[in-house]
Amino acid sequence: MNPTDLIHKFQSTLPAIQEWIDKILAEHRPNAVSVSSLSSLRLSRVFPHDLLARVQVVVVTGKVPFPPLTQMGLTEFTQLENMLKSGITYKDTFFVSHLYQTESLYFHELVHIIQWERLGFYNFLLAYGVGLIQFGYRDCPLERMAYSLQSGFDRGVFPENIINSIQQRTDAIWNAVSSMLPKT
Ligand SMILES: [Zn+2]
Repeated sequence: MNPTDLIHKFQSTLPAIQEWIDKILAEHRPNAVSVSSLSSLRLSRVFPHDLLARVQVVVVTGKVPFPPLTQMGLTEFTQLENMLKSGITYKDTFFVSHLYQTESLYFHELVHIIQWERLGFYNFLLAYGVGLIQFGYRDCPLERMAYSLQSGFDRGVFPENIINSIQQRTDAIWNAVSSMLPKT
C-alpha cells in the first residue's frame, strides 16, 4: 500500500483506536497514581509540580497496553504492535512496565504527555501515525523528539523552558503533518 493510501486507512481507523484508548484508560483508572507521588527529585527539577500532580502513571506487570491494530485491519502495524515496549502514553496517563522503572523512561513519557496536551487526542494520534508511516517508529518525529530530549536528560542537559520548547517543536511537526493531509 502506498503511504497516502495507508494514511487514509489509518485516519479511518482512528475512531476505533480512540474508543479502545478510552476503554483502556477507564479500566486502569483505579490503578493509576499521580506521577508526583512516585517521581524523583530530578524530574521535579525539570517539570512543574502541577504537571507531575495531574499526570497519571499505571505500573503494569505484563505488557503495556497497545491497540490491537492488526485486528482493526492495520496489518501494516503488526510489527510495531508486537514490539516489546517499556512504556506508552495515552492522553494524561502513561503506562510503564514494572521492569523499566527509571526516571529516564518517566521523562520520555512526560514529553509525550506534553505533546498530547498540545495536539489533543485526535491530532496526536494522526501526527504519530503519519510519522510512523513516513519514517518508522524510531524516526517518527514525535518519538525522535522524545528520544533526543531523553538523551539530554540522561546527560543532565535540557532546554530551559522545556514545556515551551516541546510545544513549539510539536507545532512544527503538526504543521508538516497537516500539509500532507487531503484538504477537506
Ligand atoms: Zn516514546
